[in-house]
Amino acid sequence: MPAQISTIDHELSFVLADKPVLQLIGDRLIAGATTIPVIDPGTGAQIATAPVADASQLDNAVAAARRALPGWGALSADERGRVIGRIADVIDEHREDLARLTTLEQGKPLSEARDDVQWSIDFARYFAEYRLEREVVRDTPDSLVEIQRRPVGVIGAICPWNFPLFQAVYKLAPALAAGNTMVLKPSPTTPLATMYFAELLQNVVPAGVLNVIGDDGSVGQLLTAHPGVDKISFTGSTVTGRKVMSGCGPSLKRLTLELGGNDAAVVLDDVDISEAAKGLFTWAFANGGQVCVSIKRIYAPESIYDLLCNEIARLANELTVGHGLADGTELGPVQNAAQYEKCVSYLELAAQHGTVIAGGTLLDRPGYYVAPTVVRDITEDSPLVSEETFGPIRSIMSYKTVDEAIERANNSPYGLGSSIWSSDLERAAALAPRLEAGTTWVNHHFALTPDVPFGGIKQSGLGVEFGRAGFEEFTEPHVVNIRRR
Ligand code: NAD
Repeated sequence: MPAQISTIDHELSFVLADKPVLQLIGDRLIAGATTIPVIDPGTGAQIATAPVADASQLDNAVAAARRALPGWGALSADERGRVIGRIADVIDEHREDLARLTTLEQGKPLSEARDDVQWSIDFARYFAEYRLEREVVRDTPDSLVEIQRRPVGVIGAICPWNFPLFQAVYKLAPALAAGNTMVLKPSPTTPLATMYFAELLQNVVPAGVLNVIGDDGSVGQLLTAHPGVDKISFTGSTVTGRKVMSGCGPSLKRLTLELGGNDAAVVLDDVDISEAAKGLFTWAFANGGQVCVSIKRIYAPESIYDLLCNEIARLANELTVGHGLADGTELGPVQNAAQYEKCVSYLELAAQHGTVIAGGTLLDRPGYYVAPTVVRDITEDSPLVSEETFGPIRSIMSYKTVDEAIERANNSPYGLGSSIWSSDLERAAALAPRLEAGTTWVNHHFALTPDVPFGGIKQSGLGVEFGRAGFEEFTEPHVVNIRRR
């Protein structure tokens, strides 16, 4: 049964109607040089007008970040940590507004948007407390060699549209904790939660330490090329990532790229089928399948293939699809019109190249709704399998031997996440290193925590975020080498 919108979201009128959405530049909230409409993907209707920076506003934001750099960098880690802790408090105090705003602009069910907000709080709190340990390479009677860490400088942060608030927070918290300042740019299709968040921080973060500017699709390139920016922290598609990398080339800007993925889940023949199906389904369809580390290809042994396919199809057919703010919604719309059009072509491929066992259709209502779709017996060379499918459409393939499954899982230009599903943890753990990915989960997927590094290999990225390694990417090493005698 499709869910209906049961409430008018009057609580959000403070953002959507009563006053304009603004950028944070220095310590001022500023209108855009131009504006862009923001669409609710659950209705297709415009819900707000967001500001867009021009080159001169971008210059102002970068200049504000540069001015703030010496003072912010001179604070102790504890002093900066207190500010980041306060950022976590602010998110906590406004958690429901931020969640509802996320749902409204992004489309995801409110329960998932609340998860985004909780993760944002958790990551901010983690980096508020995080302290790099002193790293002594050599301590002998002859010499003391120590690697100290200094901030990189002004960070340009570029975010996609699938977890707008969470991605902004998980970039700014470690970056600011390490002593950097930031100019952050949300995606043109999901600016609202980030800009509302920035507005809440106006008097929390010292002027210029965090600047948030709006975009209509042209600003990312300008931010990347800006001579006042020292590093780009980019999350988005591989195609754009390549452009960002070349944009950073002329000035040798530091760069972290978190890019697309085509994650494989390899299911072993010893699984509890119903349990495994639940986990696979959850991490294939969460956020409407619009997750970089979503399970996008499922490989199941022939012996359990039919049963697993049927179970996953059953779960897909039972899903309640609707507006993210409607009671009972489990799957929202696809986030934007361009992504919806891609899903239309994926559905054509599904019907041509495989057997559709759930969904396969668009929902006949305003907004960008795609029925959760499961495809079996699909040929491996179909673009539905070989390309990153960002939407609620998933393929299940059968395999004869585990070696073959691993080889097929690795046969991808991407290498972001992967998972193995088995009742035998030792067997799964022995296979895990053979998967070509930044992370291999066993019996789960998409489990991101601030203490564990996350990143992609091959065409899925460069560098990592989170954990010590991710924190260090917001620093430059400085070796101090003392001759003692
Ligand atoms: P996208 O690449 O189209 O856009 C990402 C961001 O880059 C947006 O803010 C966009 O405005 C900006 N941008 C566009 N052109 C640019 C340019 N030339 N220079 C600089 N910035 C530019 O990606 P999307 O459609 O917003 O997001 C979906 C993609 O992001 C998927 O491929 C997904 O896998 C990937 N993603 C990766 C991760 C990860 O951690 N690896 C996380 C989330 C999403």
